[in-house]
Amino acid sequence: MSGPELRLSVSIFGSAAGDPVTHDPDDRPVPRILKLEMRPRMPHAGMSTPEFSQWAQSMLLRITPDLKHTQYWHCEFCDKPAKETIYNVAAWLNPVPLMKVLSHNMCDASVTGGSCTKAMAKLDKELAAEVGFPRSFKPTRSGLDIPLSGSCAKCNKPNDIDHMKKCGACQLTRYCSAACQRSDWPRHKEFCKISKETEWIWGQSTPSATSSAASSTTQSDPKPGNASFPPHPADLGDVD
Ligand SMILES: [Zn+2]
Ligand SMILES: [Zn+2]
Ligand SMILES: [Zn+2]
Repeated sequence: MSGPELRLSVSIFGSAAGDPVTHDPDDRPVPRILKLEMRPRMPHAGMSTPEFSQWAQSMLLRITPDLKHTQYWHCEFCDKPAKETIYNVAAWLNPVPLMKVLSHNMCDASVTGGSCTKAMAKLDKELAAEVGFPRSFKPTRSGLDIPLSGSCAKCNKPNDIDHMKKCGACQLTRYCSAACQRSDWPRHKEFCKISKETEWIWGQSTPSATSSAASSTTQSDPKPGNASFPPHPADLGDVD
């Protein structure tokens, strides 16, 4: 038995080396954005807000290697190779289960991370004030051994752009070898199966491309941005 479908929209923000040096009014590199529409099934109908919150947080943690290693992301703020993933999450149970996740790729989110940590804290505050996302950013400890974005989702071997492989089904999660891909399948299959639509937005200069992910299920769900969200998000607390 399984519950209703969750309309999950994930937007991953970052930049990439070699992007045109165009800056927005906040003096950030023009972002690259990957928009994912995902349709996980909730475990059962009639979940309470705390149950929903706990289930959604653990799902997000399970699919974090997939979101993080979708490409060789650079820091959203300074363009250095990204290591850290910061989430802003808002979710609603009624009238239909909806969840919106903003995933920020950063070089260093520690207290000593300097200007990027400050820029992320400012963005977190703005998103809370303007869009209603619960505040979530807290600087992390420095000196943690965090893999680079775009590394192998199984063994974290640092990315080697020319030799990485991608899951052939979702075309998103990256691996150093077929062996790593095979051994990660029991974990990765959840992400692979719930991924329904993918849209890459590369700054202002490159046309975006929309492609359907592996599943042949026909989706009539609204694209990100078209859904209208009720005013009170369920409190998901901190996800990190
Ligand atoms: Zn940075
Ligand atoms: Zn590997
Ligand atoms: Zn896949």
